[in-house]
Amino acid sequence: MSRHNILVLPGDGIGPEVAREAEKVLAALSSEGFGEFEIERGLVGGAAFDGEGAPVSDATVRLAGAADAVLFGAVGGPRWDGVPYDKRPEAGLLRLRQDLGLFANLRPALCYPALAEASSLKREVVDGLDLLIVRELTGGVYFGEPKEIVTLESGERRAVDTQLYTESEIERIARVAFDLARKRRGHVASAEKRNVMKTGVLWNQTVARVHRDEFADVALEHVLADNCAMQLVRRPKQYDVIVTDNLFGDILSDVAAQLTGSLGMLPSASLGAVDPATGRRRSLYEPVHGSAPDIAGQGLANPLAMIGSLAMALRYSLDLPDAADRLDRAVSSVLAEGLRTRDIAAPGANAVGTAEMGDAVVRAFRAG
Ligand code: NAD
Repeated sequence: MSRHNILVLPGDGIGPEVAREAEKVLAALSSEGFGEFEIERGLVGGAAFDGEGAPVSDATVRLAGAADAVLFGAVGGPRWDGVPYDKRPEAGLLRLRQDLGLFANLRPALCYPALAEASSLKREVVDGLDLLIVRELTGGVYFGEPKEIVTLESGERRAVDTQLYTESEIERIARVAFDLARKRRGHVASAEKRNVMKTGVLWNQTVARVHRDEFADVALEHVLADNCAMQLVRRPKQYDVIVTDNLFGDILSDVAAQLTGSLGMLPSASLGAVDPATGRRRSLYEPVHGSAPDIAGQGLANPLAMIGSLAMALRYSLDLPDAADRLDRAVSSVLAEGLRTRDIAAPGANAVGTAEMGDAVVRAFRAG
């Protein structure tokens, strides 16, 4: 039987509440014969700052590097607003991303028919939507140097951010997108601004070359990033996989998120390179939402984004696509039965709590 070593980092606020539900699913995966899941737990974010003096300890980073997959809850909260900048809870997540070399961020936008009413768009535009945004996560304008605000001789201040990409950075993210498209509907849209940016020109040429040389069986379309944003709200179902840089990915993935309704429904994965020694890809799976201090500790949080993140781990890190499909079906059927946490319930309708939603998913999963 296959053994899987999972590191759970619940974090702060609702992080531990939703992570608990994901652990229930892990227990069900074991008892349903999908392998043995060895769970280790660690501190991250404000909890790690309080307990270990840093938002993530060296020991936890080492454990994350050795794990088959990391399940991350959420970090942050007003309690840590006053801590030094380099020790703020979010620094724990940034360090994990950096030290594990997680360069590819995957954000699916999936609209369950039962929740199509929760979208701000018309039902027919989003019903059955299933797209995946692959965002470059470790390069581009958020990291390029120089990055500074300088005072000119005139006394006026000038700010500079630098958008930088090398061919190898573009190649590796393009390969991730094409690879995933092969397992989906075989279509990639590459979004950049080649009309006004040199990085856009290089992005366009490099993606086209990787496509021609290695992935000619996948359909490729080039789209300007601003047009892509417009298309996402006009006709989002035309897309399968969208690959884009760090800045445009940040924006386009939030647009796509809104198509599906609540933050409590959105999973994500961050992937690194395949380790040639082990054949394993470094990876971290986390809900898109934060620690939601306004509802923390009340058992109200929607655990489905966290459970969906676990489903992504089954698919992309643990090579358990059947288990992932079954878990996705379980979530779909629980929603179709009408179960809702408060964030996705119609105004005035009855809502269930975090644990009840998790238990219902586990029951549906066991029922197959
Ligand atoms: P948030 O995502 O925590 O919450 C935004 C709103 O969505 C809140 O009203 C919250 O109640 C609701 N919400 C979020 N997740 C939900 C869920 N699973 N179920 C039901 N409702 C849910 O964003 P915020 O309020 O801007 O930030 C709160 C804290 O989280 C801040 O400290 C912020 O820095 C941090 N944060 C962390 C991450 C992360 O850990 N990756 C991401 C975003 C924000």
